[in-house]
Amino acid sequence: MGRSEDDWIRAIAGRFPAGPRTQVGIGHDAAVVELDGRQVVLKTDVVIDGVDFRLAECGPGAAARKALAVNVSDLAAMAALPRACVVGAVLPRGVEFDLFDALAKGFADAAAELSCDVVGGDTSVADGPLVLAVAAVGEPGPYGVYTRAGGVPGDAVSVTGALGGSILGRHLTFVPRVREGQVLAARGIPHAMMDLSDGLSTDLRRLCAASGCGADVVAEWVPIHPDAHRAPTPGTPLERALNDGEDFELLVAHAPLSPGAVSELAREGVTLHRVGTLTKAPAGVRLVERGAARDLPPQGYDHLRKP
Ligand SMILES: [Mg+2]
Repeated sequence: MGRSEDDWIRAIAGRFPAGPRTQVGIGHDAAVVELDGRQVVLKTDVVIDGVDFRLAECGPGAAARKALAVNVSDLAAMAALPRACVVGAVLPRGVEFDLFDALAKGFADAAAELSCDVVGGDTSVADGPLVLAVAAVGEPGPYGVYTRAGGVPGDAVSVTGALGGSILGRHLTFVPRVREGQVLAARGIPHAMMDLSDGLSTDLRRLCAASGCGADVVAEWVPIHPDAHRAPTPGTPLERALNDGEDFELLVAHAPLSPGAVSELAREGVTLHRVGTLTKAPAGVRLVERGAARDLPPQGYDHLRKP
């Protein structure tokens, strides 16, 4: 039995063979099924008090927004458009109505902001922290859906924004990159795409595994967020940019772009920061720093990794 979350998922994925309606199954940011001749994009993500947010510090509104936004980010990563969701809430026993109502207000505000209607849900009570589970439905945008597969050696690897230090607040306030996903898809740019939830060092490995590639990340190219210079997480600012996670930027493998194409994207409000290059698989995922390459281990967030 493996010890990372990815190992656990790989170990059970074979129990769920693709059905006749499955177009994209386990192993991507969201699933795609065909219903009545149309593609529907399905996503669920769970957030928990004490793990993904601290309710006493951020309040119910921010917790609800994050619960919805993490799902919308995964839809954006596939160039899908959020449409509707249902919400499961496990409330701490003894909870007051005021908290429940504040959560509902948070979900209503987030639904309006993120264009993803809340259309139902379920509540339960347990002796534990607040748990919010959202299941969201998206629709492919006009340019189709993208997955983590499809990258080829020689592709540029880019991100849509600076990385690291999200714990200082961006992990709650981030804006899912729905528009960026659409702009990139409209130009046919992505070969493979995903969102950065667990850190570049971990998520790039997932994109590489799905695409059957390796990758070289160039340390000097990685856009380091100002927050990465003052976050309390371990390591140097570069290491925080590589490992902190919850940046919720898009990670894109694409044919290298001319400077003109990059500035055209910038005019549409989409910044692509190149961080590296896809390589042939046996090279693995490496960090190239001052010209020297070494293995870049997955040190991003992993729910199941034991210390
Ligand atoms: Mg994702």
